[in-house]
Amino acid sequence: MSKHRIGIMGGTFDPIHYGHLVTAEVARETYRLDQVIFVPSGQPPHKAPGSVSDFWHRYLMVMLAICSNPWFRVSRIEYDRGGPSYTIDTIREFKRIFGEGTELYFITGADAILEIFTWKQPEELLSSCRFIAATRPGYDLGKLENLLGEYFSRSVSVLEVPLLSISSSELRMRVRRGLSIKYLVPDPVEIYIHHNGLYKEVET
Ligand code: ATP
Ligand code: MG
Repeated sequence: MSKHRIGIMGGTFDPIHYGHLVTAEVARETYRLDQVIFVPSGQPPHKAPGSVSDFWHRYLMVMLAICSNPWFRVSRIEYDRGGPSYTIDTIREFKRIFGEGTELYFITGADAILEIFTWKQPEELLSSCRFIAATRPGYDLGKLENLLGEYFSRSVSVLEVPLLSISSSELRMRVRRGLSIKYLVPDPVEIYIHHNGLYKEVET
């Protein structure tokens, strides 16, 4: 029997946008994943405390964004664990939960993988699961190949996705300036942001 395949999409999701959603869906289809679990970070280790929206806002926005997709889930595993959210701890915890019969695929932007050696236990992480690196069509993979060496062929699959220029930082900036974010995030997420007055303050 073939193994169960689960995609893990980690991120700050402040807020979640169509770039994240399209990437997860293309990854699901391409790698025949049985489900994709979105994991909003509890406390992102690379971001200053207080510079990120409250976990529950980010979690609820993910929930609103994914509820129409039967293969998508959201997990509070990083929030519940407490402390800084390290990907290696999350992968280990999911491996324990799902056991031997499951293959994990960590879905992330290729740009994020370029920083992997600043993450906790990068070698262990690269050996612990397969990475799906989302890139814009035509992206130069040379840098990533050089940086990762043999890990590149062993652990990384490259996936071209079309909406890579959307970013949460750009969306926060647009809200702060009173510009439209319509069609960049699902409607319920847009309504949630305005209803709760998110991203109106200058970022710290
Ligand atoms: P910020 O601008 O605040 O850094 P972001 O848009 O990069 O936010 P994150 O929550 O940091 O969003 O990203 C979560 C994951 O999604 C990361 O692996 C990131 O590389 C990836 N990602 C971010 N934007 C896109 C996009 N437009 N298309 C595909 N993947 C993306
Ligand atoms: Mg980012």
